[in-house]
Amino acid sequence: VTADRQGSSAEDVPSLCQTERTRLRRKADRGCYELEAVRAILDEALICHVGFAFEGRPWVMPTTFAHVDGYLYLHGAAANFALRSLAEGAETCVTVTLLDGLVLARSAFHHSMNYRSVMLFGRAEAVVDPDEKTRALLAIVDHMVAGRSADTRHPSEKELRATLVVRLRIDEGSAKRRIGGPVEEPEDMALAHWAGLIPLVLMRGEPQRDGESTGAPSFHAEPEIS
Ligand SMILES: Cc1cc2nc3c(=O)[nH]c(=O)nc-3n(C[C@H](O)[C@H](O)[C@H](O)COP(=O)(O)OP(=O)(O)OC[C@H]3O[C@@H](n4cnc5c(N)ncnc54)[C@H](O)[C@@H]3O)c2cc1C
Repeated sequence: VTADRQGSSAEDVPSLCQTERTRLRRKADRGCYELEAVRAILDEALICHVGFAFEGRPWVMPTTFAHVDGYLYLHGAAANFALRSLAEGAETCVTVTLLDGLVLARSAFHHSMNYRSVMLFGRAEAVVDPDEKTRALLAIVDHMVAGRSADTRHPSEKELRATLVVRLRIDEGSAKRRIGGPVEEPEDMALAHWAGLIPLVLMRGEPQRDGESTGAPSFHAEPEIS
């Protein structure tokens, strides 16, 4: 870590460590280090992107995740190349992005997007304790649909052996968000171009029962916008 840890930011607000590499430089007013903001984004997002370097080359892997007790958990096949690299000590940067809208300005230059995002840094480690591994795998299922793991067969020993789980401590990183409409040049305001916001939502559709499934849904079965 090239970072020089400076400790938490605000008074009495549980925060991520501010380090040299997490110091928000560009549009810093859109960022923060508050754990509550970070957790809210992690709660809502369904995927993350895991970046690391292997033999000097960059890799970024999209994947599911969960966060429990201050750790971000990732899982995959025991042979998963990216997770094995993390388990062997590669430094990682994990990003999580929620896309909230398209921002259309009068000028091409000022087009933008509204978003909430998190960047986390650190070194992950393999989870070897079978109980923690099971908890993490069930948390990943619950992250998809709250309470879902209670309505599943839990992982067998064989499945646990076939699965690599790694965890990253959520302690170095930042959150950032953009809200609102376009930010325009004053001289462009009179131009006769449409400008404004196109909101984006990720919507859960109507659940489609698997043909062989006989159970009643243990989740809210109406389509909903998350
Ligand atoms: C959906 C989406 C679209 C975007 N489109 C663009 C684009 O087209 N062009 C563009 O320049 N930027 C875009 N951004 C913003 C981009 O993520 C960066 O914040 C921005 O480019 C500043 O980069 P920088 O390297 O100068 O950041 P710096 O401010 O130098 O970054 C320093 C530190 O700030 C934190 N940080 C920076 N960005 C983020 C972030 N997004 N989330 C959480 N922490 C962060 C990290 O800890 C980082 O290490 C987009 C973001 C999102 C989520």
